[in-house]
Formats: sequence, structure tokens, C-alpha cells
Amino acid sequence: PRTPEAGEKRVVVASPRGYCAGVDRAVVTVEKALERYGAPVYVRKQIVHNKHVVETLEQRGAIFVEELDEVPEGAHTVFSAHGVSPAVHAQATERNLLTIDATCPLVTKVHTEAKRFVRSDMQILFIGHAGHEEVEGTMGEAPDDMILVQSPEEARTVEVDNPDKLAWLSQTTLSVDETMATVEILRERFPNLQDPPSEDICYATSNRQAAIKQIAAHSDLVIVVGSANSSNSNRLVEVALDAGAKASYRVDHAAEVKDEWFEGVDTIGVTSGASVPDILVRGVLELLEEKGYPKAVEEQLTEETLTFSLPRELRAPRTID
Ligand code: SF4
Repeated sequence: PRTPEAGEKRVVVASPRGYCAGVDRAVVTVEKALERYGAPVYVRKQIVHNKHVVETLEQRGAIFVEELDEVPEGAHTVFSAHGVSPAVHAQATERNLLTIDATCPLVTKVHTEAKRFVRSDMQILFIGHAGHEEVEGTMGEAPDDMILVQSPEEARTVEVDNPDKLAWLSQTTLSVDETMATVEILRERFPNLQDPPSEDICYATSNRQAAIKQIAAHSDLVIVVGSANSSNSNRLVEVALDAGAKASYRVDHAAEVKDEWFEGVDTIGVTSGASVPDILVRGVLELLEEKGYPKAVEEQLTEETLTFSLPRELRAPRTID
């Protein structure tokens, strides 16, 4: 990136940012389910962690619930991109729900890895954050054989049954650097620790972090667009600060940007989490122009071309029911 002159104002927007393939698929799944079956379609948990997306789908007839006992027997029900545990699948069958599974295939991949390790009698150290839906879903695959490790600090003290029958896996939306630090500590303590067969932190998480890192190193302020419960958006703020941004804040949309953030600020970096529609980023960029900053320039680190096909329930030809 070009080094700006002293006092020159710049806005640099990161690419890749915003929607990933899993979020795009999950949102389209709810839209298609509404088209196909008519409203209401129930969705267990927020389909993706973004307020704007959830509100837009609500207006179109989606009903978001926390648990399946809030869904009428036999109703069409979508599982969110974050995945669900086998217990939730069982509950859906019991209530005769017509389920459509919008779990991101990259989350399903981690479920499959967990099942395989447990089948070969391994215990799993699962790196992730307590309370996140993805963690609940993945750990639900083998609750007795998985231990949650939330930080490098916890890696120093976690106790395991047999250090020679041990593997680690992780949530898909963690900080790449912090996870590597956690794994290093685990490996020092448990040298026979097995790695995941392939990277669990997904391509979208790593790409968004790498793209903002470059920009953050030269930024006085980094604004991350994303909702408060979005794991990967929160990680982007941490990554920006670690990479050298003087300040970084997360906002849901332009109206949350505060005037005092601009004091003495020349270079502003902007990015967004994987669940954020680009219209919200455009809102922030327009606001920055109103505040006297020039049009944003985009810095593209890499191109993303991955797409996922829709859940099989929506691919099958429609039957008359
Ligand atoms: Fe899938 Fe990664 Fe997107 Fe999550 S952030 S939905 S794991 S592609």
C-alpha cells in the first residue's frame, strides 16, 4: 500500500470483506424456503449473526425462535448457518418438523472431524468461545469427549484423560494468530496432540483478517461493520488493533459511528464481518465522505470465488403435499 503524505486523509476499504459463501447460502435458503412454502417459515436462532439481515427476513415472513419447542408441530424450520447438535436434529424429528439445514458446509466439516476422532477413541480439545451457537452445535456431537479451550491461558491449565489420544479442533471464526498461540501451548504440554485433517478456521475468516491486517498497520482508525454477537466481526477489531491500528470499533451501521473517533484521524480502514451485507458498509463510506474524507479506495488482498449449492431439501424437485 502507498504511504500517504502527512496530514492527507484516506479511507481504505478491505477486500475480501462481508458476505462469505456460507452466509450467502444461508440467507438465500430462507428466501427460497419462503418462496417455496410461503410464510411463515421458522428459523432456529438467527440465520446469520446480523441484525439487518434478520430484520429483513422477518419482514418477509420468517419467524426466528430460540428453541424448537416454540415451533408448531410439522412446520417448515430452517437450521442456521452455525450448525446444530444431534440432540436438536432428534428434537426436530420428534416434533415432525420439516427441516431445512442451512449449516455452512465448512461447519459440517468440523462436525465430521469431531465424530471421526471420537470414533477412534480420541479426546478433543475444542478451541472456541463458550455460548456461541457453533460451539454448542459442534460440541454437541460428543459432549463427553470434547473439552472447550477458550484462550491461551486455558490451554496452560486444561487437564486431559490421555495425552497420547488427543486431538484439537476449532470454531471456524476465531483469530488465526490467537488460535496458533493456543495450539503452540497445547503442543508443548501434549507433544502427541493431533491436528485437524484440514484447517478449521474457514477461508472467509482468514481472508478477512489478513486483508484488514495490511490496512490496519497504516490506519489511525479501523471501523468494522458487524453485529455484537458476530464472532468473526469481533475478531476483526482485535486483529486490527494487534496489527497496529491506533483505534478500532465495531458498528452495526453508520448511525453508530461516533464523531469523537475522528479527532486527529487521517487514515481510516473499513471492513465488515462475514455476515454483513455490503449496503451497510456503503452507508459507513458515505458517512465518512460527509465528514470530509475522500472516496474510499479498495485494497484487495485476494479474490474469493467459492460458492455452495443450496441445502438438498431445496434442490429436490417440489412434490405436491
Ligand atoms: Fe461458513 Fe466461514 Fe462463512 Fe461461517 S464464516 S458461514 S464457516 S464460510
